[in-house]
Amino acid sequence: MCSSLLSLLKEKETVILIEQYNQLGGTSTIGGVNTWEPGVAGKGIHYQLAKHLLETKQGGVSQSIGSVNRETPYGFSTITNKDSYESTLKRSGLTKDKWRRFTFEPDAMAVTMETILTTYPNLLLLYQHQLMDVSYHKGHIDSVIIKNRETNEKVIVKGSYFADCTGDIVLARMADCETNLGEDSFDLYQEPSAPINSSPNINGVTQVFRLQQTTKKKPYKMPLLYHHESTRKWMKKISEYKLVPSINQYPNGDLCVNLLPTMDGNEYMNLLKEDRQFFLNSRTFAYFEFLATHKGFESKRISHIFKMVGVRESYRLIGRTVLTENNIYQDTYTENILCQADHALDIHGKSNVKGKGIVELNKPYGIPKECVLTKEFDNLVVASRGSSFSHIVASSCRLTRTMMAMGEGAGKLLYQAYLHNQEL
Ligand SMILES: Cc1cc2nc3c(=O)[nH]c(=O)nc-3n(C[C@H](O)[C@H](O)[C@H](O)COP(=O)(O)OP(=O)(O)OC[C@H]3O[C@@H](n4cnc5c(N)ncnc54)[C@H](O)[C@@H]3O)c2cc1C
Repeated sequence: MCSSLLSLLKEKETVILIEQYNQLGGTSTIGGVNTWEPGVAGKGIHYQLAKHLLETKQGGVSQSIGSVNRETPYGFSTITNKDSYESTLKRSGLTKDKWRRFTFEPDAMAVTMETILTTYPNLLLLYQHQLMDVSYHKGHIDSVIIKNRETNEKVIVKGSYFADCTGDIVLARMADCETNLGEDSFDLYQEPSAPINSSPNINGVTQVFRLQQTTKKKPYKMPLLYHHESTRKWMKKISEYKLVPSINQYPNGDLCVNLLPTMDGNEYMNLLKEDRQFFLNSRTFAYFEFLATHKGFESKRISHIFKMVGVRESYRLIGRTVLTENNIYQDTYTENILCQADHALDIHGKSNVKGKGIVELNKPYGIPKECVLTKEFDNLVVASRGSSFSHIVASSCRLTRTMMAMGEGAGKLLYQAYLHNQEL
């Protein structure tokens, strides 16, 4: 281990943020999910981020235009900046024409996140470091092992408190916390929309990509290498309008394409890692060839395929409480909550959930602190799309600003515990 890192880690009161890539923001930047969908977001850091990006014209308030039909078989959102940022902060109870989004440049977002975070003097930001292992005893996490992805050096990081903010709850699973994967059966939580039996189905996976205007005159043809029978079958769903992608315009006019989805969730989970990218790329190129050949996108080209695959759901913690569909409708949690959410229940791809697809909510609901607390440990929070939600609720909670607000709430919990030297 390098000596400067060792001395920093020995300093008291250091918060260490460990990130496997070289940018902040995860799915919302590196994964290309560069739009905050309309929704409640509380008083959090999103205001500062949006203000800076709006001022520097690297973010804008956007809205849907046109309708989905045979000529334009996709949802299209364009930046109008006609309304204030505040207009993006509500979804439930509004008609679609009132929904406003916030779309941003991913690199600018990541830099702004870093600028805000590094104003805190006791923060050590470790990029390109991956969590590898954990050491714990008697309900207490003692340390984690992380690896520098460039040098392969391993470092043991001891700490008083730990936050697992990985989407796939990597730390919690390494520490043998109870988790779940897939659709919950009705018997488990008595959710009205739950199927009778549990199943491995999870929300679909999307390979997000970016389109740019070009002066190319030759018609676009997908690379031969990526032709595959299964892609041809998948494209039938597109040409029969069974899949309706969403396209969002960036401030500079480029387009962000979010296939809804590129692959069923458990199809993705069951593929070998080395095969996943082939099939995702194959469908990406095939879909773009369809747009370029049949839907008026002939002067565009793919400028970027985002390197982090857009995974909507995988393992979920079974924490001190599991937030269920009943809690959402019955207003179970209104006080002492970490944050609120009001996005629709939103399941893409194969599913046995009743009324699957988009089910809008009438009002926001609260996420209690028990959703980020484990049953097993007194010094760990788990704050990500893998927190303690049922499969159905996870499809609503996972939105970017909800995850940011819940993370801020979880951070406050940790800070209070630290100040009073308490267990969580
Ligand atoms: C295709 C798609 C479209 C979506 N559309 C929208 C939308 O339009 N609007 C919206 O608001 N939300 C949308 N969402 C939901 C939202 O983007 C995500 O649910 C949310 O960003 C998840 O945030 P997270 O912090 O839980 O996880 P992540 O974004 O996955 O962040 C986890 C972080 O942990 C890091 N990490 C993971 N493992 C390790 C490890 N072993 N060591 C070190 N670091 C690690 C990752 O690199 C990452 O930076 C979409 C999601 C997807 C997949």
